[in-house]
Amino acid sequence: MPAVTIDKNHCKGCELCVKACPQQILSMSKDITVKGYFYAQVHDPSRCIGCMICAITCPDAAIEVRTAGQVYSLFDY
Ligand code: SF4
Ligand code: SF4
Repeated sequence: MPAVTIDKNHCKGCELCVKACPQQILSMSKDITVKGYFYAQVHDPSRCIGCMICAITCPDAAIEVRTAGQVYSLFDY
């Protein structure tokens, strides 16, 4: 099963990934980060299809997708 990891400390709460996910399994948190942002989280990871659209969409490269033993992330900090 694909694994999606969202680094909340790099998330600025823009919600682009939430709107982009074709499975609609991302949502925003109810609490905030130390920077004062609501952050994205995966609320139903079992339905992830590993399409990586969320990672490609995120302007802050806060999302990493792991699928079939491969790691996909747009940039490394
Ligand atoms: S990899 Fe695709 S299905 Fe999985 S959370 Fe990201 S956008 Fe949604
Ligand atoms: S696209 Fe990136 S910065 Fe925007 S809410 Fe999603 S994880 Fe956070």
